[in-house]
Amino acid sequence: MMRLELLLTWPSFFVMGAIVGSFLNVCIVRIPREESVVRPKSHCMNCGTPIPWYLNVPIVGWLMLRGRSACCGEKISMRYLLIEALTGILFAISWQLLAPEVAICGMLFSCLLICAFFIDLDHQIIPDHFSIGGAFIGLLLSLLFPSLHIKDSASLWSIQSNITSLGNGFTGMLMTSSLLMWIAITSELFLKKETMGFGDVKLMGCIGAFCGFKTGIICIFGASILGTLFLMPLILLQNIIPHMQKHIQWGQRIPFGPFLSLSAIILFFLQHSNRFQLW
Ligand SMILES: [Zn+2]
Repeated sequence: MMRLELLLTWPSFFVMGAIVGSFLNVCIVRIPREESVVRPKSHCMNCGTPIPWYLNVPIVGWLMLRGRSACCGEKISMRYLLIEALTGILFAISWQLLAPEVAICGMLFSCLLICAFFIDLDHQIIPDHFSIGGAFIGLLLSLLFPSLHIKDSASLWSIQSNITSLGNGFTGMLMTSSLLMWIAITSELFLKKETMGFGDVKLMGCIGAFCGFKTGIICIFGASILGTLFLMPLILLQNIIPHMQKHIQWGQRIPFGPFLSLSAIILFFLQHSNRFQLW
C-alpha cells in the first residue's frame, strides 16, 4: 500500500511524462513523414548507429551527452530535451491540480496537443491522428469519465451522467469546430485568401470534445489573443530595428494550431482545477 502511495505522487508522474515525451519526440519526427513510430528503434539521425538504452533515457540521456551524439558528435536538438521535460511537467501538473480521472484525461490531452503544436510549427499541417483521432479519444473519455464535463459530483456515477457527458463532448466538438470554420470562411471572404487551414478546424473538434462548448469558444479567443501577443512585438521589433531579419511579413500564413493548443491546455487546467473556479 505504501509503495502505491509513493507511486501516485507528482514526481513519479513527472518521470512517466518524460518517458511518454520521448515517445512523442518520435511521433513528431516520424508521423509527418508517414514512417512507423515503432520500427526502426532509435538511431542516430546522422550516421544511423543504434542508440543504446542508457543514452536513450529521457532528459538524462541528453544531459549526459550534452546535446551531441555519442557515435559521431552530431548535434542533437535541445527540443528533444524540452519536449520530454514539458510532457513531464504537464503530467505532474495534471496530477497535482486535477481529480484523478480528470488528470488521466489531462495527460492524454497534453500528449495530443504537444504533437499538434510541434508538427504544425514544423510542417504547417496537423495530422488526422491527433485531430480526428483526438476527437474520438475525447468523446470516449467523455463517456467514461462524466467529471470531464459535469461539475456536480452528486449526479455522477449513473448511466445518465455518462450519456449527458458524452452529449456535452459531442456538442463541444461540433459547435466549436463549426464556429472556427465560419471564422475561416468569413475572413477568407474579406481578405480574399486562405487564412486558416482545415487542420485547425479538425484540431478544434478535438479540443471541443475534451473541453466542451463553453471552454472551446473561450479557447478560440484565447488563441487569437496569444497569437497577437506573440506576433505584435515581433513585427514591431522587425520594423524598428533596421537590419533585423524579416521573419514575419504582413499577410503571411502563420500556423494557428500552436496557439490553439497552448490556449486549450491552459484553459483545461483552469476549467478543472479547484483552485481557480473560473466558470
Ligand atoms: Zn551518429
